[in-house]
Amino acid sequence: MEHERIDLGVIETMDATDVGEPGKRTFKITAESSRGRAVIWMEKEQLFQIGLAIRQFTATEVATDDPKDFEPELAAPSSPADAEFKASDLRIRHDSDSDTFTIEAVDPVNEDEDQVQEAPATVQFSFGRTMAIKLSQQAIDAAGRGRPRCELCGGPKDPEGHVCPKTNGHHKGDFELA
Ligand SMILES: [Zn+2]
Repeated sequence: MEHERIDLGVIETMDATDVGEPGKRTFKITAESSRGRAVIWMEKEQLFQIGLAIRQFTATEVATDDPKDFEPELAAPSSPADAEFKASDLRIRHDSDSDTFTIEAVDPVNEDEDQVQEAPATVQFSFGRTMAIKLSQQAIDAAGRGRPRCELCGGPKDPEGHVCPKTNGHHKGDFELA
């Protein structure tokens, strides 16, 4: 079966949040563009890693001086997309020409070739640096709620330690020292 891809293009609104009681929380990113809407559910760690990846990237890479207009990779879906699923795989990449970030989320429903295809297999959407930084903050806040904060980057500290983007990931011992 053909691997379907839906490209929401450049989104207009995006939101990362947690839902539910402490200890039973679930996490999602909601993204919407003129092409449709996607609600991507994920594990706390996946949301946190996206937040951290953006924070780390935007802290070290300067913005493009003269960004070109970003063109979505794929044509608009024939009817507005309305996808909601728990992602089995999540990726984020950055296009340096346009200084645009793209998140790609894989819907596991379609990984089994024998199943009837009910939902898009992969949904992707793109956004600029301002939205990326906002998403990063929301993601780290939502994933880190209830945990102690790092005094350098404001990110949550895990009992296993903390890879701090402010120290380029090399300073891992600040949990024990705190
Ligand atoms: Zn830190």
